[in-house]
Amino acid sequence: MTKECLFCAIVAGTEPASLVYQDEIVSAFLTIGPVNPGHLLVIPNQHAAFLSDMDEETGAHLFTISTRLARVLRQSGLRCEGINLFLADREAAFQEIFHVHMHVFPRFSGDNFTISADWSVKPSRAELDRIALQIRQGAVK
Ligand SMILES: [Zn+2]
Repeated sequence: MTKECLFCAIVAGTEPASLVYQDEIVSAFLTIGPVNPGHLLVIPNQHAAFLSDMDEETGAHLFTISTRLARVLRQSGLRCEGINLFLADREAAFQEIFHVHMHVFPRFSGDNFTISADWSVKPSRAELDRIALQIRQGAVK
């Protein structure tokens, strides 16, 4: 736990949160800034600012619980025609709280959530293959 981390304080119980799930590895609670009602954050209980700070077993469990909570949201009676899972790692990706968190939130047609990108640019197969090679030659083991 770090002194000024809001999410560590939620895990410690010194800051309020509307918890929906907690075990020895992760906690899930409603965000105070929801895209839609039922918008959850799933976090590791142990502080990890970024993905690279979190061990893989914790990350796997975080994803398992996120997918289970997505199923629960669909069955909850809340308006939910679809689900987004969203994890922002570092400021350039819009991370604002520096304790890893997976957003799990209901979607429905006509809601106000958008992702803005130019999807029209289609790289050539040669360019895709070049990038794939670059990634394969990276440090993934
Ligand atoms: Zn923290």
